[in-house]
Amino acid sequence: MVGEGARGYLVSNYPAYDDHCSDCGDAIEPHSGDARCPACFDRYLSDIEPGFLESYRQFGCRSRLVLAETCLRGLVLESPPHRKVLAMTIFEQYVGSMSDLAALFTAFRNRENAPLMRSFLEYRLDTTSALRFFEDVRNASDAELCYLLGLPLPATAAAVAPHLDSDDQRQLAIAVHHLMLDLRKATDQGDEAAMALAQFAGQAGGAIIANDAKWLDGAARLTPDQVALLVFDSRRRAIHVQGLSADEGVMGNVVDAIDTVTRAASNLIYAYLQANDL
Ligand SMILES: [Zn+2]
Repeated sequence: MVGEGARGYLVSNYPAYDDHCSDCGDAIEPHSGDARCPACFDRYLSDIEPGFLESYRQFGCRSRLVLAETCLRGLVLESPPHRKVLAMTIFEQYVGSMSDLAALFTAFRNRENAPLMRSFLEYRLDTTSALRFFEDVRNASDAELCYLLGLPLPATAAAVAPHLDSDDQRQLAIAVHHLMLDLRKATDQGDEAAMALAQFAGQAGGAIIANDAKWLDGAARLTPDQVALLVFDSRRRAIHVQGLSADEGVMGNVVDAIDTVTRAASNLIYAYLQANDL
């Protein structure tokens, strides 16, 4: 009895290997636990897409703005070194929100080829993808942008969405109108901003910051109110320093920019869900 019990215990803790899709039963690579074939995974992602988008719109995309606004309030009260930590955190929220907006934009543009959720979660902001996002917005008219994203132009909202009542049709038109303005505002600083953004995005999370860069050899010129972000460049065997002002006014502008980006993401999702009756 004891032996059987022990054996049963051991057996149940061994991972059960399987080589079939948990949903459709097609043969796939060996795995333990549940796993899906690529087609079933995409189907599953499409099924949960409206719920994911609505949750992201109401909570996920707002989280960065909440954190940035809290840091900005703290900035006024803190000592200079602490202000720099808060400033860098605010800037990280800006980079994160821009990266998310670029990911959303790219996922919507690619919606015929891949589930939105997969494109969104797999997106990485680098120099190529950042420049592409900025260029796509800059080179397209409003009508082309709406077509790219699968949205009606404000003037055609009522015709495209007859399932909505007139109030919701008006809200849809307003959301698309603001989305066009905010997308342009978020990207109006051009290619140099896109490349700086990509560089920050590559460092964010693993970045080391410093109160000043006087102890570094070389010409790292920072003003006393700037925080230094140290960028390790193994290719050129160098340490680069990027300075960021912890000034309240500058940080206030960054928080405004996060607000614009957050509103764009929110309106993009709202308009898509409404226009497609999801
Ligand atoms: Zn399957």
